Amino acid sequence: MAALGISSFIHLRDIARDVDNIYQHPFAVSNAARSLDFHLVSMHRHMKDVVLATDTQEMERAISEVAKHEAAVMDDFAIIFERFLGDKSKISKAYATFVAWKPIRDEVIVLKRAGNRDEAAAITTGHGANHVRHLNREVDELLQFAFRKADDFHARAKANEKQAIFVVSSLAILSIFAALAIAAYIIIKMSGSSREAVQRAYLIDQNIMIAHLDIDGKVIDVSNALCRFLGNRAEDLRGKPSCFFDNSDETEETQETIWRTISTGKEWKGEIKRLGSDGKVYWASSSVLPKLDDQFNLVGYTNILVDVTSKNLSVTDKLTTLFNRRRYEEIITRELRLAKRNDTALTLAILDVDFFKNYNDRYGHPAGDKALSDVAHQMVSQLNRPNDYAFRIGGEEFALVFSGLSHEESKLFLEEIRQSISDLGILHENSGVSNCLTISIGAHVVHPGHFIDEKAIYELADKALYVAKEKRNTVFVNSES
Ligand code: GH3
Ligand code: MG
Ligand code: MG
Repeated sequence: MAALGISSFIHLRDIARDVDNIYQHPFAVSNAARSLDFHLVSMHRHMKDVVLATDTQEMERAISEVAKHEAAVMDDFAIIFERFLGDKSKISKAYATFVAWKPIRDEVIVLKRAGNRDEAAAITTGHGANHVRHLNREVDELLQFAFRKADDFHARAKANEKQAIFVVSSLAILSIFAALAIAAYIIIKMSGSSREAVQRAYLIDQNIMIAHLDIDGKVIDVSNALCRFLGNRAEDLRGKPSCFFDNSDETEETQETIWRTISTGKEWKGEIKRLGSDGKVYWASSSVLPKLDDQFNLVGYTNILVDVTSKNLSVTDKLTTLFNRRRYEEIITRELRLAKRNDTALTLAILDVDFFKNYNDRYGHPAGDKALSDVAHQMVSQLNRPNDYAFRIGGEEFALVFSGLSHEESKLFLEEIRQSISDLGILHENSGVSNCLTISIGAHVVHPGHFIDEKAIYELADKALYVAKEKRNTVFVNSES
């Protein structure tokens, strides 16, 4: 396109130059040549008048006419000489012929003035007329040359015009095609990117559990993936309180913790538990993020959840839904490391149901299961802090792991748990220590600045349980450090 543009520019410039040449050369030259021709003929005619004049006055008038036309001829020669583009020697030759006519004319005038009319007439019609004919031929040649040149320039200008029209039209057509191609490219790109955006939105909707909540935690919109997880339709959820999608017994506490965290503009991260309509327990790792407007005002929340049910099931006890022994081993290792790094106390408590064999024998195994589940739930309901953990580590054996409590504080806390289980009032007529179900608790507290490994802490807590079992329905916290 750039090449075509340059080419059309060159053609247009050539046309302009040729038009200029047509004006400069052939018209100017041919006009001057035509005029020259006329003045020569006039001079010749007036020379005849000189010869034919009957008196001096008439003769002098004719002579002055000749002089006038002679001056005009000189002007025309000057124009031709200046503008002529051909061989300038031709002009010089014609001019020399013209100049050579002067002595002939002078001779005629002298003869006429002397009254020698016949001799003057003979020169004018003979020698003089020949000279004028010769001069006319030379001027005619100049004229023909000028016309040929004009034809050349005209033909060239026409050819250039045709080429310029062709190039400019090609340029216009190419520009239209280029514009169409660019428009098509942009449309394809845009439709491609909007298709990608739609696909991306679809993938997110189908695979990411996400909810947009207003400032009160009510549902504005939920993704399809979250609807499937919750077992609800989006229209049933919109406008309802999300309760951060935790509908388990611990909902209230979880919600409180979440509100406390996000109301200060922080993100809350944790695991939530949902009791499905099929009676099964579902787990989700949940992040609640504050949503801010341009002025950084809190306008709502985004809740992103990841289903971790299958992961948790492998580390969860089916009967009580507490973490199992495998998870206990992971957590105790991690918590010991954290306690050491943060220089905080860490307590491991082992809880064992008293005379549970007798309970089974008296009330049957299913009742035993139910009792274990109730004990587990009661235990969990006593745990308030995010780093408090409860596990079922054996048949009727549980473990608690918590940090930041001293020996005395741990004892008081565990005492509350023991009491609350006894307060459940699960009838146990075959218990040796009470008429209802009780537990014994043995615990060990790792004090700040002391290091102990997972095996040692377990042995020490187990030893404490052994002591507690001597009395049963008792808490014994190991005083060793
Ligand atoms: P102690 O006070 O000394 O702890 O006496 P105990 O009877 O509780 O202890 P023992 O270890 O003799 O018996 C534990 C019983 O717990 C035996 C077992 O049948 C029962 N048990 C273990 N797991 C389960 C369970 O999942 N469901 C039920 N129903 N019983 C269980
Ligand atoms: Mg036991
Ligand atoms: Mg027992």
